[in-house]
Amino acid sequence: MDKSSSYIGRFAPSPTGTLHAGSLVAALASWLDARAHHGRWLVRVEDVDTPRCIPGADHAILQQLAACGLHPDAPPVWQSDRTKLYQQALEQLTSQQKAYACGCTRKEIEVALQSNGIAKTRNAELIYPGTCRSGLNGRIGRAWRLRLPDLATIHWQDRRLGIQQQNVCTRVGDFVLQRADGLYAYQLAVVVDDAAQGITHVVRGEDLTDNTARQIVLQQMLGLAHPTYMHTPLVRGANGEKLSKQNGATPINTATAAAALDALLQAAHVLGLTAPEKRDNSNPIAQALQHWVAQWQTIYSIHDY
Ligand code: GLU
Repeated sequence: MDKSSSYIGRFAPSPTGTLHAGSLVAALASWLDARAHHGRWLVRVEDVDTPRCIPGADHAILQQLAACGLHPDAPPVWQSDRTKLYQQALEQLTSQQKAYACGCTRKEIEVALQSNGIAKTRNAELIYPGTCRSGLNGRIGRAWRLRLPDLATIHWQDRRLGIQQQNVCTRVGDFVLQRADGLYAYQLAVVVDDAAQGITHVVRGEDLTDNTARQIVLQQMLGLAHPTYMHTPLVRGANGEKLSKQNGATPINTATAAAALDALLQAAHVLGLTAPEKRDNSNPIAQALQHWVAQWQTIYSIHDY
């Protein structure tokens, strides 16, 4: 089978709000990459962190995508329907002693880190000092963590950013697979779903780059295939920070075809794509998308991966 036809890509929005200018860039890039490879494009609603989800945001996102002409090649799936898969993966890891129960509270982790003399944090996340690695010592298990092997630094090739590396042991530590509140962690859900859906190419926002080494380790430990990765440029707000729902990014307006086209033009600009020179007024969105697929093929060397 030629490689292009085996391509499966995806867009995986968390319904913590509707699409804003930043998330549309990731949606458009993943769609364009799939089309440029003559592949399939799936949408997966990542509602695994239920307390952060906003009711109705999932359907609003699907409508925004449709208004922008970004139609998935299969019905979307919801992570909240797939907890059995995450449970099976966690059971696989625990039965092989690759995951362990952890009884630490955040406060206890902070105290343990302080007594080690280093305030170890990474992106405000605590680097787990390994307290429960050798057992709970009579405490009650709250969460499940991955038992990282003594691995050397993980190296991986990002299609836009080039060679990346991270030592997951020293930069992250044994990370959580199932939280104290019983919810499965993003890292586990995303790896299980990417494999279950046969995803060959992940195209997503640059803010997620830092998660990739953890996901590669999990793929190795679960015996899963590794997709290739590409992280797309972020849209920055007026304060220079990444545009996000947290810093008040406004939803894209897709109420009319003209507004949707405008939003797409802005997203395309962030990706280094230009508008078609002459506008076809009968279906300007379809025309622009087609134009960008051709540009994408020349800008990103799609045959290399
Ligand atoms: N659900 C994640 C987000 O919306 C994206 C996960 C991914 O693409 O791997 O930030």
